Amino acid sequence: MTDPATLASSDLVDLLTAICDIESVSGDETALADAVEALLRGQPHLDVHRDGDAVVARTTLGRDRRVVLAGHLDTVPLTDPPNLPTRLTGTGDDRELWGRGTVDMKAGIAVMLALAVELGRPGAEPVADVTYVFYDHEEVEESKSGLGRLARNRPDLLAGDFAVLGEPTSADIEGGCQGTLRVDVRTRGVAAHSARSWRGENAIHAAAPILALLAGYDAAQVEVDGLVYREGLNAVGITGGIAGNVVPDACTVTVNYRFAPSRTLAEAEQHLRELFADHEVVVTDASPAARPGLDDPLAAEFVAAVLARTGGAPKPKFGWTDVARFAELGIPAVNFAPGDPLLAHADDERVRVAELAVCRDALRDWLRGA
Ligand SMILES: [Zn+2]
Repeated sequence: MTDPATLASSDLVDLLTAICDIESVSGDETALADAVEALLRGQPHLDVHRDGDAVVARTTLGRDRRVVLAGHLDTVPLTDPPNLPTRLTGTGDDRELWGRGTVDMKAGIAVMLALAVELGRPGAEPVADVTYVFYDHEEVEESKSGLGRLARNRPDLLAGDFAVLGEPTSADIEGGCQGTLRVDVRTRGVAAHSARSWRGENAIHAAAPILALLAGYDAAQVEVDGLVYREGLNAVGITGGIAGNVVPDACTVTVNYRFAPSRTLAEAEQHLRELFADHEVVVTDASPAARPGLDDPLAAEFVAAVLARTGGAPKPKFGWTDVARFAELGIPAVNFAPGDPLLAHADDERVRVAELAVCRDALRDWLRGA
């Protein structure tokens, strides 16, 4: 049983260590959610709600703008042997905390918690109201998402003018995210014995134009709100044929399209249907893209605050993240947090702890109007 008081430390490294050492593999977030809830309920300036293993805390200062800081509490499974409890290596600014969740994304959670405790106390009021969203079930199938559940049950709690998601970005702002669409492109033929193949029509051969089109496809680089997104259209699988002596009558090429936020999901699907107009196209998986939203005034102030601390200009996000879920709610969102995204889910997951203070200070400057 973990004592919720362990999260009370104002030192970011101690706080991150305590959060990571409460294991919270997807589906097993209750202990960490309990500790987060207990810490936040102890803050008189926050209005706290619990939904399953998600915790939402809000300031209610009556400001005309509201910022949402959001992050997931769950992690992918531990390694074997387990990469918890955490361990700290190095000295000074080179210190690194190793272990599951340090990057994805408890470093971001630690920064959010520290700000939740600080901002709204007398003498530390933020210039905008702030909503902190800690949710469960991000690292598993979409239907279980705690953020999706909150959006269905309590959309009022997620309302805001701009959101920052604490997915690891090495303390850079990563705006928006690309969408992803997976389709099966099918060809039909006529089955025959391969000894009399002239009596059949070979469906695998009929896939040749599909592959030629993909191999020659010139993927676009698209500028949206000043960020350049690089698209991709790729065959990611192919199936066909039932035996070594049968001309196949069916072949399926699975195609994945990663598209820039300039297209809606419907437009992306339409693009693929036009490209493969001669074939049957079946959508098997689809997630929309999200615009970076950097033209929003709150976002511009955020970019300026981060620029002043790190000198880093915003970049496009190429993967898919929950910023798209905020975009669906009409809330522009970016990713910003400590941790190298390439170390997320890695066996040697670890974070340079100096990045935590950088991210906290940039967010604090912005939210205090410094
Ligand atoms: Zn994550």
